[in-house]
Amino acid sequence: MNLFEEQHIAIYNSITGKKEHFIPINEGHIGLYVCGPTVYSNVHLGNIRTFMSFDMIFRYFKHLGYKVRYVRNITDAGHLENDADQGEDRIAKKARLEQIEPMEVVQMYTVDFHNTLNTFNFLPPSIEPTATGHIVEQIEIIKEILDNGFAYEANGSIYFDVLKYNETNDYGILSGRKIEDLMHNSRALDGQSDKKNPQDFALWKKAEPQHIMRWPSPWSVGFPGWHLECTAMSTKYLGEQFDIHGGGMDLKFPHHECEIAQAKAWHNHNPVNFWMHANMLTLNGQKMAKSTGNNILPAEILSGDTDKLSKGFSPSVVRFFMMQAHYRSILDFSNDALLASEKGFQKLMEAISVIPSLSTTKASMDFDVQEWKQSCYDAMNDDFNAPILIAELFSAVKYINQIKDGANTIDAINFELLKNTLHAFVFDVLGLLETSHEASDDKLEDTIQLLITLRNEARAQKNFALSDQIRNQLTEIGIQLKDGKDGTTFSIE
Ligand SMILES: [Zn+2]
Repeated sequence: MNLFEEQHIAIYNSITGKKEHFIPINEGHIGLYVCGPTVYSNVHLGNIRTFMSFDMIFRYFKHLGYKVRYVRNITDAGHLENDADQGEDRIAKKARLEQIEPMEVVQMYTVDFHNTLNTFNFLPPSIEPTATGHIVEQIEIIKEILDNGFAYEANGSIYFDVLKYNETNDYGILSGRKIEDLMHNSRALDGQSDKKNPQDFALWKKAEPQHIMRWPSPWSVGFPGWHLECTAMSTKYLGEQFDIHGGGMDLKFPHHECEIAQAKAWHNHNPVNFWMHANMLTLNGQKMAKSTGNNILPAEILSGDTDKLSKGFSPSVVRFFMMQAHYRSILDFSNDALLASEKGFQKLMEAISVIPSLSTTKASMDFDVQEWKQSCYDAMNDDFNAPILIAELFSAVKYINQIKDGANTIDAINFELLKNTLHAFVFDVLGLLETSHEASDDKLEDTIQLLITLRNEARAQKNFALSDQIRNQLTEIGIQLKDGKDGTTFSIE
């Protein structure tokens, strides 16, 4: 029997605004699509949070025994600088500024994206398709939407006719926006645009002479609109209707709203049963933005090479920190919050490391392991409530420490259950990595600092034999001391 037969999940569905009982379309199988990154710069920490939330969800489904097809795309063309189908393609712009090929930009930042996700212990998705790999599919969809009367051609570009669509459908069903408000609030077309109405969005854009990323189509040499790629790739790999579509909150409108409209205009099905949106990450209480300098890169968190942090943090501490907030809540990133998470994470790891040394005697009088285990599942079954799960893990930590101190007991059967459940949730579901060496890394640093202090004292006392001995013997074991004007630093080979 699979675990999913006994654990029942409720998911907050963005389209209904309610938690709903989750039943997959095909029993035992789940189709999950998450909008991936546009690979024109280093992956943003806010995006890491979104992808980490879905990594945790993917992991939990797998833990329950579901066969999950997880599709997360790479946007390597078609994403313009603004949402009104204006501006340069983000990748082409970067290529122009750096004087390299657009595909060099794509390659560079795709590699960076994968490396960063690997560092944070992400599981790879089942399929990672690219927009440029699905131009043919996108052209075919446009043809059918045109045939169905929901799009029009203007000067070689094809636009989705939002007003026409809204006559028989509900444009705004996901974002809660009303077409009248959208019409009222959008800027008038500037005469440059080929659109009938400002709400209309591009399915295909004719390439201007300077636009280097271009493909032939029946209408013009051009490129697909950004929203279309996700409709093409999700349908190709998951079907016209699939279980879950996820992404960051900022993608709800217009991107996901447009995906629904395209799918309905194309094959007249609601494409997605559950829409899930992860909330944003702020930094020191402010929105993160490169332009204001309120920004931090994943690599800077690990190295501590930033004025925003007092030191570097390990990937598992960052992951633990992110898991301590529910994916639908705003999470604020700060030095203090990370320091607190680091303490919590170390406490959790220490408890896990003492488990093998616990002796089993008799069942506890006040800790029911079976009940605790179900509480862990209940937390995750309730819209993937990782912070509640972590609170449950800490009640086990407390119990483990009591057993260690002789203040509580456990029998052999419950011991196995406790150990296995804790391992499953900490490592398989939350995706944390055992980093018991981390504490020893800190100890090593402290020890070297102590030796540096002793060497300085020896030098001050003109005991050069001793100070040289300290430095030379450290060198022999691969630790180099460097004397600078701000004191002595060290590097470990
Ligand atoms: Zn998308």
